[in-house]
Amino acid sequence: MTTSLFMRIRDCFPADMNKTLLETPDGVRFSYRDANEWSSRYAAALYAAGARKGDRVAVQVDKSPSALFLYLGCIRAGLVYLPLNTAYQAQELAYFLEDASPVVIVCQPERKAEMDEIARVTVAATVFSLGADGQGTIKDAASRDGTDFAPVPCADDDLAAILYTSGTTGKPKGAMMTQMNLWSNGRTLVDLWGFTSGDTLLHALPIFHTHGLFIACHCVMISGASMIFLPKFDREQVIAALPRATVMMGVPTFYVRLLAGKDFDAALVSNMRLFISGSAPLLPETFANFHARTGHYLLERYGMTEIGMATSNPLDGDRIIHTVGPALPDVEVRVCDDQGQVLAQGEVGVLEVRGPNVFAGYWKMPEKTREEFRKDGFFITGDIALIDDKGYVHIVGRAKDLVISGGFNIYPKEIETEIDKMAGVLESAVIGVPHPDFGEAVVAIVVLQGESTLTGEEIINYIKTLMANFKVPKQVFFVDELPRNAMGKVQKNVLRDQFSTVF
Ligand code: AMP
Repeated sequence: MTTSLFMRIRDCFPADMNKTLLETPDGVRFSYRDANEWSSRYAAALYAAGARKGDRVAVQVDKSPSALFLYLGCIRAGLVYLPLNTAYQAQELAYFLEDASPVVIVCQPERKAEMDEIARVTVAATVFSLGADGQGTIKDAASRDGTDFAPVPCADDDLAAILYTSGTTGKPKGAMMTQMNLWSNGRTLVDLWGFTSGDTLLHALPIFHTHGLFIACHCVMISGASMIFLPKFDREQVIAALPRATVMMGVPTFYVRLLAGKDFDAALVSNMRLFISGSAPLLPETFANFHARTGHYLLERYGMTEIGMATSNPLDGDRIIHTVGPALPDVEVRVCDDQGQVLAQGEVGVLEVRGPNVFAGYWKMPEKTREEFRKDGFFITGDIALIDDKGYVHIVGRAKDLVISGGFNIYPKEIETEIDKMAGVLESAVIGVPHPDFGEAVVAIVVLQGESTLTGEEIINYIKTLMANFKVPKQVFFVDELPRNAMGKVQKNVLRDQFSTVF
């Protein structure tokens, strides 16, 4: 045991350590040497605060270069990184801290007093601060330390991170990611997506989530590339940075927003070689408009917190809309029924995944872990899918989205797809709401395009011509936009609350 995730990543750093790892929108550059040295200082500061191999470090801070170096410091010291969305409030934080019992907590400076108080009643931890500008008490502590902190060796199945998944029901679960989960996935994606040291990634994703932290940053560091590191998705900043970038990773909302202005065109992205989309379904309209405007086919891939990336459309070869591509080279996928029986090719069932990318289980939830794994090691994703004759996976819906109306099972995605195809519709979300007669009733929440005068009755009548009555929305509501979380996912729980009393 002489290696670790950190050591493997650092071994991939370029020979010229002065090379830029990341650049901020105001032009400040940080080199690979900075990443190496600051990770050492942060590792030493965490060690001085009492954190030892396997201990958790909870981090709820704004995105910044220092936040990335803090992550590297954690894995350098063999600690378990636990990123938290800055949107979480006191009650949610108390749950995470009690559950994960971190030894160190790093928070936004403006919330330090609040975090001290939460920590006081939940967990014996040292609380540090780190601001968006990179300043804070952990930076002060780290500044006093040296740049030669010896990386702590770790076994492949030692934990590197715990990521809490939002989950539509029940308590958030901490997905335990091992050293090998993160390393193998990053390594595979670098090859699959053709990353080289010549690439510059436009990074506008949050780094409290697997997409922005592991997928994006690991691909860059493992290939010795550079990134333009934006604090968040800001359309103007993205437009300004695109001419210098070669790759962008984003959620579908990013691409919809880029397409919303005429300044996003083929000339602007002439330096780009690849746009990757994931974390939420890509609308066919976005895929088509994107190609028409830029000449690029968006590369859609599929993953989730527990499994990192599992499938991807190809770099070379057909990128097919409505599919998330075949399994990654070292990943196996299959579609099963509720009992775990493998279904025939083309049949719709639950997607299961096995491979070095699949997490080690849910933190302190052995029961839940057992429920979500098959005996042969496949993880039951909860996504409803089919695999076509080319081996491409189609995500058809989410098991937890399932609406049961009058005893019939209804997958909203099927209805959404048809509504979305109607002229005048931008997008839609279909949900089940309590109904005195049916238990749940199907309703559609629709966003119309600009001047469209489409009515709810027209939508209902059209869907009636296509599918069984029990699937036809009982009512249609119009909204200006669908509520989305930071990862671009439609927040159906928000819609379900909002429309819970319509019957
Ligand atoms: P998260 O754990 O937050 O990354 O969410 C994972 C979930 O996002 C998956 O289980 C899918 O339901 C959804 N998802 C991710 N990528 C895609 C995609 N390309 N198309 C459709 N759904 C996706």
